[in-house]
Amino acid sequence: MTFKELGLIEPLLKAIKDKGYTKPSPIQEQAIPVILDKHDVLAGAQTGTGKTAGFTLPLLQLLSSKTSKNTKPNIKALILTPTRELAAQVAQSVDDYGKYLPIKTAVIFGGVGINHQKALLRKGVDIVIATPGRLLDHIEQNTIDISHVECFILDEADRMLDMGFIRDIRKVLALLPAHRQNLLFSATFSDEIKKLSDGILNNPKLIEVARRNTSSEMVSQVIHLVDKDRKKALLSKLIKEGNWKQILVFTRTKHGANKLSQQLELDGISATAIHGNKSQGARTKAFADFKAGAVRVLVATDIAARGIDIDQLPHVVNFELPNVAEDYVHRIGRTGRAGNEGEAVSLVCVDEHDYLKGIEKLIKTSIKKVVIEGFEVDPRIKAEPIKAGGNRGRNNSSSRNSPKKTDTRAPRDNRNKDKKPFRKDNESKNTQENRKYKLSNEGKKFKESSNNSKFGSAKPNSSRVDNRQNRQRKPRVQKD
Ligand code: ADP
Ligand code: MG
Repeated sequence: MTFKELGLIEPLLKAIKDKGYTKPSPIQEQAIPVILDKHDVLAGAQTGTGKTAGFTLPLLQLLSSKTSKNTKPNIKALILTPTRELAAQVAQSVDDYGKYLPIKTAVIFGGVGINHQKALLRKGVDIVIATPGRLLDHIEQNTIDISHVECFILDEADRMLDMGFIRDIRKVLALLPAHRQNLLFSATFSDEIKKLSDGILNNPKLIEVARRNTSSEMVSQVIHLVDKDRKKALLSKLIKEGNWKQILVFTRTKHGANKLSQQLELDGISATAIHGNKSQGARTKAFADFKAGAVRVLVATDIAARGIDIDQLPHVVNFELPNVAEDYVHRIGRTGRAGNEGEAVSLVCVDEHDYLKGIEKLIKTSIKKVVIEGFEVDPRIKAEPIKAGGNRGRNNSSSRNSPKKTDTRAPRDNRNKDKKPFRKDNESKNTQENRKYKLSNEGKKFKESSNNSKFGSAKPNSSRVDNRQNRQRKPRVQKD
């Protein structure tokens, strides 16, 4: 199957060619015709399988007949994403794929000045890509009109729910015209996603191309059992002796991310941390530096890492296991993307054995365990409860392991932080940084994947393994 056979128009085919894609991925093959036929869609596929082009290409095609260079556009499509980074990446894809079409887009997220966004919206755009918080700011301030939206897209819907955006989503939905096309994309499916989709989608086509909650086959996984206070030394050793060049390291907390990146620096390994407490400019810069190879290690929390897409990212390290088993799948999905091989290494101490069990149960695999000489576990050390990270307000399910701490804090209305007066010079700096980010994103080339890659074969699976039943969630404290 070729992109042409999917019925895509010439300006899109040309843009796809520029990107270097030779054939549609399984999710694209299934989603594109259905979306072109104006159906609602509920689509699930593991990370890195090309979902963005799966909805962006047909969307651009549907809009192409309704746009012209000469009239002021109104917003015909709204794409919601959970994080700023993801919004920026989706916007980049829309720009890339739509470069030969007269379609105007605006990307709207918090942490940067609002005035530039207002100016763009005033001029008129066809597509808005937004995070929920900042979108609601614009709605409150009456600087955006979403009453003409014909297509509504929720990207990473599972993460949206995880991050407690459900109320924000409902607020947005209430303002959209009743008659519209809806597309919901998610890496994992749960009962909650089902429920959400029941409320949004109208007689949707269900598209699923890989088993849910499975880890990518392209990623080799290994566990190093190690004492907690030896983890840092082990990580330094692995990086130095393995001569690893580009490593994404996950910690559970923002504080842990900062501390680890400082310690690695002291060991002579260039590192930077990325998490929700950092300004958008700082996050964008850290991400761009890492992508460009200017820093060797990017230490990230789960939320901050969502949406990171770096071609051929060779190493992902779980410095600490996530307390939510599904996050393990998301984390290691950052490597081995687009058919490239990757390695996921987890450093596991005695406190984390329950987390590990939860993960192995979820992915239905026992991960290989390797003890590194000189880092043998001290059997006298007993497991201690793990304190809940400051940025996790989530609660029980079978896949979330004890010990847990219920976060009783009210969700912070993070939109307030966007309401701070914003200095002009900051704004232009941010804009510059965004531009830099955009540039560093360009010129990516996809290497033709091997047969068993994510782009090679579709694996329909209808068996529903849902271990997230009865899951109760609380809104997270930190939002984008
Ligand atoms: P997902 O949203 O499913 O996690 P993305 O849409 O971010 O995945 O795509 C992952 C990577 O695959 C991106 O670098 C993208 O450019 C690349 N990609 C997308 N579609 C194709 C294709 N048909 N052929 C090759 N590479 C592709
Ligand atoms: Mg995606």
